[in-house]
Amino acid sequence: MNYNKNQEIKLRFNDIGADGEGIGRTEDGATFFVKGVLPGETARVSVMKWKKTYGYARLIEILEESPDRVAPRCPLAGKCGGCSLQHLSYEKQLEWKADKVLNCIRRIGGFEDIPMEKIVGMKTPYYYRNKAQFPMQTGADGSSKIGFYAGHTHAVMNTDYCYIQAELMNELLPAIRSFADENHISCYDEESGKGLLRHILIRVGFASKEVCICPVINGSSLPKWKLLYEELSATCKKLNYELTSFCLDINTEKTNVILSTEVKCLAGRPYINDSIGGITYRISPLSFYQVNPLQTKAIYDTVKEFAALSGRENLWDIYCGTGTIGLYLAEGAKKLVGVEIIPEAIEDAKENARVNGIENTEFYAGAAEDILPKLVNQAATEPTVAIIDPPRKGCDEKLLETLLTLSPDRIVYVSCDPATLARDLKLLCAEKYRLERVRPVDAFCHSTHVETVCLLSRNAPV
Ligand code: SAH
Repeated sequence: MNYNKNQEIKLRFNDIGADGEGIGRTEDGATFFVKGVLPGETARVSVMKWKKTYGYARLIEILEESPDRVAPRCPLAGKCGGCSLQHLSYEKQLEWKADKVLNCIRRIGGFEDIPMEKIVGMKTPYYYRNKAQFPMQTGADGSSKIGFYAGHTHAVMNTDYCYIQAELMNELLPAIRSFADENHISCYDEESGKGLLRHILIRVGFASKEVCICPVINGSSLPKWKLLYEELSATCKKLNYELTSFCLDINTEKTNVILSTEVKCLAGRPYINDSIGGITYRISPLSFYQVNPLQTKAIYDTVKEFAALSGRENLWDIYCGTGTIGLYLAEGAKKLVGVEIIPEAIEDAKENARVNGIENTEFYAGAAEDILPKLVNQAATEPTVAIIDPPRKGCDEKLLETLLTLSPDRIVYVSCDPATLARDLKLLCAEKYRLERVRPVDAFCHSTHVETVCLLSRNAPV
């Protein structure tokens, strides 16, 4: 089979790929990935690239439309890099995500009877994000641009309105843009490495109403920053928020890593506070904090339910970040042990424990796969319940082996990638554990991502 560039072909679509693109087949079985098409649709497309076994094509015209197609709210849908499922009804997005989790656990994990529970979606899947890092750039006409990158590029599109960010952000962006223009402050150019303003990091405490704004600059100071601070403070106040943290991140490296570790606090505190279900968390510009507070609560409540603590357990929170999940559950445990690779996050975790008056805690900084084997010999701290919340790549095999040796009664696995989750479940459930509950949570509405919480219980010894 061969397909040429610009060749027009007809495809029938039956799936969605990792980036939200439609997966379609020709009558003779060739597979193509096409943005903006849904399962159940047929479409006329133009071939962009053929790679021997599959290809990419551009949509020309939809011939048969799916009943699940909806008109996206956002005028930038399909252009901006985010929200790749906005053209699919929210109900069907949830169904697709639950299926994705089920299929991974079945195909990669090799499980047959999977104890799937209903996916937890949002009532209003908009304005849910509490964090954004907006790139800035100088446009062809010399004026500054702030917003999102156009899909698969590094070209900034001026974004006047985003439907998934906290609404406050929509008010802040124009103010930042006019500040740069009126005061002739340059934006960073990736090619030459010149220009000052690179990104603007914004974090909003949904419960506390505290806001942190942190311009990332290619230089040591931001001229007229007080003016910007006052302007943005007033904008926050108008919407009943308070700009309690105004920082600068100094990033003078020629890199596409957004933040450097050098942060200066210019006004207020170097962090904001926010709370989830009665626990207060301190969040500094560099700390990891879940971006969808409402669904984070749903995830943490699920972990609490699955962990079923009685007050007697040693609870281990592995990959604990700033201690968020463990502290949320600590009240029900005898003792909490947290392990996390970033030392600053562990400092935040200790501070979070102190602020919340939670005393039965120990936190260790280091790679979980290295620290856990060392803790194994300390019989007093052996886990009764272990929570694992690894990054996308899943758990290191050494860590899983150590967990099997420690053999806590229950393991609660929180995952942001169903494929690596399924791989790790296979290893854990080979002998010692059984998969008892699987509950996906949609924390990234309109994107292809999905979180999953699983409960594993230790089999009775034979
Ligand atoms: N449980 C936290 C954070 C989860 S994100 C929360 O809900 O907020 C995953 C965390 O794992 C990150 O904080 C990351 O820094 C940490 N991490 C990554 N690799 C690690 C490793 N090998 N050992 C320990 N922690 C690791």
